[in-house]
Amino acid sequence: MSLTLLFAAGPGTLDEYHAPLRMALSDEGLDADLTDSAPPESVDYIIYAPASPLQDFTPFTRAKAVLSLWAGVERIVSNTTLTQPLARMVDPALTQGMVDYVCGHVLRYHLGMDAHITARPGAWDAEVPPLATERRVTVLGLGALGQACAQALAGLGFAVTGWSSTPKDLDAIACMHGADGLKAALQGAEILVTLLPDTPQTENLLDARTLALLPKGARILNPGRGTLIEDEALLAALDSGQIGHATLDVFRTEPLPATHPYWHHPRVTVTPHIAAATRAESAARVLARNIARVEAGEPLLHEVARARGY
Ligand code: NAP
Repeated sequence: MSLTLLFAAGPGTLDEYHAPLRMALSDEGLDADLTDSAPPESVDYIIYAPASPLQDFTPFTRAKAVLSLWAGVERIVSNTTLTQPLARMVDPALTQGMVDYVCGHVLRYHLGMDAHITARPGAWDAEVPPLATERRVTVLGLGALGQACAQALAGLGFAVTGWSSTPKDLDAIACMHGADGLKAALQGAEILVTLLPDTPQTENLLDARTLALLPKGARILNPGRGTLIEDEALLAALDSGQIGHATLDVFRTEPLPATHPYWHHPRVTVTPHIAAATRAESAARVLARNIARVEAGEPLLHEVARARGY
């Protein structure tokens, strides 16, 4: 019997996904009708992104799962009408994109590239950067993205510490967890990468108190979520020199308003939420695999734990 897949992801997105999804579903041996409009009671799976106007999941009585196109699910996880299982996006191409972004920006800081890119003619400041093995980098969040980034950084030779909610044991990473672990992880972070989800527990994790735990002049790279950082505290820490520079990809309000101080601060680089995108080709395969698993009676992959919010 044919499945009905409702694509609820905002204008134009189905056009991008239609061909790759059709192919991925066929490769999984699934017969499915892919549509952006269907009677709710006929829908078997909902593929979802926050740009969709769909907010009330109550009428989707037959839906076996909601599959998010986004890795971050903060805009759907607290929707009380959503009783169906929710899967977040874990996509190899999205992960690769994040690894590329994080390694690139960490290397920019590590090598002090800005000084040479902006040097005046005749400047000959021959300060040799330390080796990666002498540079301590901390990654907050050791999930799909944090783990891949931490391991890639360790592969480049950096001395990497990782921090998560639950204990972890990862090759070449000094793993820490919990409140005590956070203190140690921050104290050792010359470069700090934040890859945590937006939850009530992570909101303003970086505030005046925690920023003060970082070594003076530490650099911050935030491709996680804007809510992880208390903006006023970061701006004050940048002004005082406690934080040497910050590269921010995500913000409380996006697009970041043109008047926001981050745009104008000499020690902030703004990137417009481009660290890692979900790519249709590989995401389609992830979606089709997950649907095929549920149809075969296997557990949904990457299911969001609703109570913890990620
Ligand atoms: P994930 O697999 O769910 O991993 C989240 C990690 O954060 C886990 O290691 C988790 O610990 C840890 N964590 C959560 N709450 C914590 C807390 N209160 N204290 C300590 N650790 C905590 O998520 P992911 O796929 O790696 O993605 C991470 C985030 O990246 C997403 O939520 C999203 O916001 C962001 N993102 C940004 C972009 C972009 O383009 N900028 C793209 C994709 C994703 P445990 O392992 O112990 O559970």
